[in-house]
Amino acid sequence: MIDRREVVRAGTLGALGAGLVGAQASPAAASPAGFLEGVGPREWKRLADALSSRSTLYRPNDSHYPPLALPFNHRFAGTHPAGIVACGSTEDARTSVRWARSVGLPAVPRSGLGHNYAGYSTTTGLLLNMARMKTIRVTPRSGARSRTYGSMKVTHGAGTVTVGAGVTNGDLHPLLEDQGIFVPTGRCPTVGVAGLVLGGGIGFSDKMFGLTCDRLVSTTVVLADGRVVEAGRDSHSDLFWGCRGGAGNNFGVNTSFTFQYEQFQGDVGFYQLRWSLDSVLPVLAAAQRIALDGLDDKRFHLRVGIGTHGRARDQIRANANVNAIGQYYGPLDELREILAPLLAIGTAEERARNRASVREVTPGQASVLLSATTPVEQFATKSAVLTSRTLLSERQVGAAAEQLLDWPGSSNEDGAGFAMFALGGEINQVPPDATAFVHRNAVFIFAAETSWTDYDPPRVEAANLHWLREFYQSIFAGTPPKQSYQNFPDPTLKDWRRAYYGANYDRLVRVKRKYDPTGFFSYPQGIGT
Ligand SMILES: Cc1cc2nc3c(=O)[nH]c(=O)nc-3n(C[C@H](O)[C@H](O)[C@H](O)COP(=O)(O)OP(=O)(O)OC[C@H]3O[C@@H](n4cnc5c(N)ncnc54)[C@H](O)[C@@H]3O)c2cc1C
Repeated sequence: MIDRREVVRAGTLGALGAGLVGAQASPAAASPAGFLEGVGPREWKRLADALSSRSTLYRPNDSHYPPLALPFNHRFAGTHPAGIVACGSTEDARTSVRWARSVGLPAVPRSGLGHNYAGYSTTTGLLLNMARMKTIRVTPRSGARSRTYGSMKVTHGAGTVTVGAGVTNGDLHPLLEDQGIFVPTGRCPTVGVAGLVLGGGIGFSDKMFGLTCDRLVSTTVVLADGRVVEAGRDSHSDLFWGCRGGAGNNFGVNTSFTFQYEQFQGDVGFYQLRWSLDSVLPVLAAAQRIALDGLDDKRFHLRVGIGTHGRARDQIRANANVNAIGQYYGPLDELREILAPLLAIGTAEERARNRASVREVTPGQASVLLSATTPVEQFATKSAVLTSRTLLSERQVGAAAEQLLDWPGSSNEDGAGFAMFALGGEINQVPPDATAFVHRNAVFIFAAETSWTDYDPPRVEAANLHWLREFYQSIFAGTPPKQSYQNFPDPTLKDWRRAYYGANYDRLVRVKRKYDPTGFFSYPQGIGT
């Protein structure tokens, strides 16, 4: 069966050569004009011949090129790589990097489907599509200790799992479903583990088990000079530090990652709550209070947000809602007690529905229920790190709700709004300079988002981007947030160095100078040399 998204995708692929409505060339594509002129057919053949049978070079005339060139966010579909290596091995990644350097082309890795919000996994140079590197190797460890949380027995540090750079969050799901093996990742099944871990990695178990980057034991990196190094606690520890929060495409091409995993047995508490926008003030007040009171309670996970979708004003009003979702590693009656202030809000119908949503599920079911993805097409975000001093006031929440009703609309069913992911627990036990991920005193990561489709007219894109700025501005008027999340990059952010990396930025520059002194891996918000 072909659904609407497939039709849209097929239409988009067809449109790729002709240029999409509203699609723009990515700023990551910025490179010396005419640099391609020197790369002739003989050079491309040299690359194709040098690759092993595990990898393939695609040029724009190849039939496989369009789907591989297209980034997840079609906003940046106007940037076409000169060539794409579908990379199947570390050795071929190394060959590709060396070749790109030798002919003066930039090389940019993409894992997953290319989810970067700012289009930083697009290039007019050589795109290294890592999706073929799908190996997953599990190495159990004996003697790991277990602990019970409600109906769940967790064996901590039960072993390691080594994944290739092309593995996505969703690829790890069968391990959880079939064997109870769990690595904390993000919400979206198609996000690549590579981009996720390199920028941090928040999800619905991070307070309990740490960010994805906190679980990293080692990573294999192809450097700009073609060397392949293994970065871990005892080797290239400075690079290892940078690969835990320093964001992708800054130091090299990471071809594999080894994580410590947890072994699950039993069930976890789950909830999913929803109200009309009328309840926005009490819900946000209660949710923020719960998150603050439970900052050190690593078992409780929460995402709260507001959203709407539709094209016409009445649809946007009717769909406007407040929502919360999460899970709890503990007994169900404790979860109900934590949620009590939220469960008391709303109409009788909302309260009954919300109460009924609180239940125990298997970790595999929880992972499916908690997963969500933005429909392919076009979207943008602006994020903020909220601490106990900068939680949203009633005025800010009220302003956000008002602006939400003024959203200009689009055909994208994902619509617009904001989401707040509660942090704390294990995440905040790690000192801010222990890894490159600096945001270790956060209560929430906040993300304002808007989305539209390929077939919306250009004025819809312009109106959505304008609205996003106004929405964010109305919430943070006068008090612009100091930090934002590097995995939700905002190309319009001026002081992104401090916002993404804070006091860690200077150290990241030192790592960059050591491992990529010529700045071969670069993009507009890349670490400088
Ligand atoms: C729908 C959606 C849901 C999301 N949900 C979450 C979430 O729940 N939690 C969360 O923390 N984040 C989330 N994100 C953000 C996500 O973590 C980042 O967009 C992440 O960078 C995506 O990684 P990727 O490999 O899929 O994307 P890509 O676009 O391929 O890569 C992102 C960046 O990393 C670089 N890169 C990619 N592969 C490599 C590699 N092998 N070696 C070196 N550099 C590389 C790219 O060049 C690019 O600069 C979400 C994003 C979207 C669009």
